[in-house]
Amino acid sequence: MTPTGDRHVAWIGLGSNLDAPAAQLRRAFAELAADHNLQVLARSSLYRSVPVGGPPDQPLFCNAAAALATGLSPLALLDRLQAIEAAHGRVRDVRWGPRTLDLDILAIDALVMDCPRLTLPHPRAHERGFVLVPLAEIAPALSLGGGQRVIDRCRAVDTRDIEPWESRV
Ligand code: ATP
Ligand code: MG
Ligand code: MG
Repeated sequence: MTPTGDRHVAWIGLGSNLDAPAAQLRRAFAELAADHNLQVLARSSLYRSVPVGGPPDQPLFCNAAAALATGLSPLALLDRLQAIEAAHGRVRDVRWGPRTLDLDILAIDALVMDCPRLTLPHPRAHERGFVLVPLAEIAPALSLGGGQRVIDRCRAVDTRDIEPWESRV
């Protein structure tokens, strides 16, 4: 992980639906905050969402979003986030299957890139209520490409299955 010297703002989507999902996300926030290469600028509250895609009958998800400032390059940031996923016991077998922790980079500044390991903005973020609702809390005016703001995308997609995490516990 090599700091580039430039400082970026990265927008991150967090998700978990295994092994105490809310605790997974709270621990991930603490790990991000403890990393000297990252500064947590903002974090959303936690949401409960019905799984979209992947195998049927998965547990409900806990989702959140965060804004990070970092001097890490985009790929070094991805390495760091994947190391945190691994420390949470993340296993990749079934695509969009249940997971202890998913940390996706939704956008880094206004950077557009498409390489095998990293596509920015995240190519599916703009159509996902479980990404957009938490992100709208901390970055309503952000564009994820395509010219529309997060808040406008939020109104355009189905968000009926996304509710505050605490509302049903
Ligand atoms: P989705 O990307 O649809 O949310 P997922 O999060 O379940 O699916 P993962 O298994 O976490 O997918 O990641 C698969 C690969 O996607 C990673 O190994 C990573 O290299 C790549 N990838 C590409 N763009 C991104 C991005 N913006 N953020 C995180 N990973 C990305
Ligand atoms: Mg994902
Ligand atoms: Mg992912």
